[in-house]
Amino acid sequence: MARICVFCGSRSGNLPEFADAAELLGTCLAESGHTLVYGGGSTGIMGIIANAVLRHGGNVIGVIPKHLARPELMHDGVADMRITLDMHERKALMHSLADAYIALPGGYGTLEELFEAVTWAQLEIHQCQVAVLNICGLYNGLVTMLDQMTEHGFLSQDCRRHLEIFSNTADMLQWTAALGPTQN
Ligand code: AMP
Repeated sequence: MARICVFCGSRSGNLPEFADAAELLGTCLAESGHTLVYGGGSTGIMGIIANAVLRHGGNVIGVIPKHLARPELMHDGVADMRITLDMHERKALMHSLADAYIALPGGYGTLEELFEAVTWAQLEIHQCQVAVLNICGLYNGLVTMLDQMTEHGFLSQDCRRHLEIFSNTADMLQWTAALGPTQN
């Protein structure tokens, strides 16, 4: 089974659909035997997906930099919590663990991590698939921007295809079900 690195918000957003999607994805990851690799937080969409995986008996690896490893931020129910020196070491460790990447709803942190993963796919640093779950159109503006970059020649059609965009959780679950076993 695969280790799936999920980037997502430290906040929950203001629509119940965001939390519902994280809950459903976490449940399905646990039921299909995949391991969740995530940022180690207890808040927002991060906390929701980690709790869903744990509640359904799944495996979770948290990777958190020491400056965020505070009781009010770090999930205290994740047994396999890796504490790193800084954000760079955190992302390097997440990348070394991941077989595939998913971005759920989130903010700056989520986008930054997503675009590093997809840039590294473009540069063939890894062969992992990268997908975004576009719940309630949160990422519509981003999709439009990527289409414009493709239209104006900054992204090749091939590079554009490195980022899969799903607008419903059921389609993403079909994609996760097809992911291969751990490569690392
Ligand atoms: P954002 O999308 O801006 O909410 O940021 C989410 C990302 O920022 C996570 O994937 C983490 O890398 C990091 N982050 C922000 N807050 C926390 C927190 N409380 N605990 C762990 N990671 C956090």
